[in-house]
Amino acid sequence: MPLKIAILGAGISGVSLARMLGDDGHSVVVFERSERAGGLCKSRVVDGFTFDEAGGHIMFSKRADVMDWMKARCGGEAGVVRTERQTRIRWHDRWVPYPFENGVGHLTKEAIVDCLDGYVESYVQRRLGEPCPESFGKWIAWRMGEGFARHFMVPYNQKIWKCDLDTMSSGWVAGRVPEAPMRDILASAVGFDTEGYGHQSVFWFPKSGGFERMVRGTIDGGRFTLRCGARVEQVRREREGFSVDGERYDLVVNTAPLPQIADAIADLPAALRDEIRALRPISLVNVLIGVRADEPPPPLSWIYLPFPEQGQANRVTYFSNYAPGNAPPGHASYMAEVTHRGELRPDRRWAMELCRALDGAGVLDVERVVTLDWVDSEFAYIDQNLEFPARIARVREWFDESGYVTFGRFARYEYHNSDQCIARAMEVRAHVAEIARTGRPARPRFA
Ligand SMILES: Cc1cc2nc3c(=O)[nH]c(=O)nc-3n(C[C@H](O)[C@H](O)[C@H](O)COP(=O)(O)OP(=O)(O)OC[C@H]3O[C@@H](n4cnc5c(N)ncnc54)[C@H](O)[C@@H]3O)c2cc1C
Repeated sequence: MPLKIAILGAGISGVSLARMLGDDGHSVVVFERSERAGGLCKSRVVDGFTFDEAGGHIMFSKRADVMDWMKARCGGEAGVVRTERQTRIRWHDRWVPYPFENGVGHLTKEAIVDCLDGYVESYVQRRLGEPCPESFGKWIAWRMGEGFARHFMVPYNQKIWKCDLDTMSSGWVAGRVPEAPMRDILASAVGFDTEGYGHQSVFWFPKSGGFERMVRGTIDGGRFTLRCGARVEQVRREREGFSVDGERYDLVVNTAPLPQIADAIADLPAALRDEIRALRPISLVNVLIGVRADEPPPPLSWIYLPFPEQGQANRVTYFSNYAPGNAPPGHASYMAEVTHRGELRPDRRWAMELCRALDGAGVLDVERVVTLDWVDSEFAYIDQNLEFPARIARVREWFDESGYVTFGRFARYEYHNSDQCIARAMEVRAHVAEIARTGRPARPRFA
């Protein structure tokens, strides 16, 4: 039996699920508080340059079905550009391949010895049964050793997370960061090229329209109603089903960041409302930089900037390399990401200062900057503090038990990229099919 379903939030999670459920014959309305759908996947055009708003996004997935789904939304193979990933760390005056463990041979001899010594020591300790530490700061040394920690991991992560790394939980990296084989590290140290992170060694990007093209292609031709400028004010469970701003639905699926929707959920217990308030995000200012360029920039995808003297940006994307249409002829574009915890108030002077620091780091020529803009995204990264794992488990449990479905980067607080959001949407699609088949509410099952 077809269901009437409300989806809250029209980021990639919301619109991809809406498209799937519409194809299955359900009646679907998506509520989006912004004037435009897309959430973190939005792009914008400034002075003829196309930029992604929330930092550099690429299309990749470990799952072939998800990858095909994403490409199909962009017009198939003809609608995307394929790129071999070229990433570097700006390590003092050197360009070191990423991941850092695979680039160790490019460091100074002293730093190579530090890194190998520490890596072997940590490897032995782990084999002797040293347990995985609870804190992220200690996890770095446990997993990579003191040398890698000091020469890259600690300064880089301090720049992103803006906190004492020992106050962060290690739960989010365990299982996400693949362990570099000892042989690869030794090979790299003596000068062989080794490759890490196989599934990201190639990525795709929409030929035009920026990453948002994938969202547009999901909406276009979708059999669902999208209401933009429609901030949801009140949701509640009723005897049979739910009401959303007074309208009746069989099911509500939330994909909006929990702190932005919690006040609207009338039946949320007060204690959980407080827990959700405590789920503070890490925010991100993405600085959009257009430059005059007689020649194309080096064929890099993005670079990491671990050190304070390189300015506040921790990552710079060479965005015009993703798709030729991203910059007008004779120009190139970059995006520089700066994280913060609510304290940053970007303005033009600040953005120019950032460009000067990038000039000093040998990334771009500040005299050639012709376009400068920025976007501040409140919800960019999850604050992985030590209380987070238990807190989010309690919040998820309430939603899963109560009959709501909540999924998405900040609707479930999972450190997911858009491909994983789409994979989650596929799981929710199966969940809805079960409810429609049995006519009974059920607890969603997430892998
Ligand atoms: C710096 C950075 C780099 C990234 N790089 C990549 C990458 O390379 N590749 C990749 O695939 N992914 C990448 N991601 C992740 C990707 O952006 C997210 O996984 C994805 O966009 C999350 O989509 P979502 O729909 O879950 O959430 P969101 O995009 O946050 O969408 C939630 C929507 O809910 C709306 N909303 C909020 N409150 C309400 C309300 N009360 N009523 C109605 N609507 C509401 C919001 O306006 C928003 O549109 C990156 C993310 C960041 C921050």
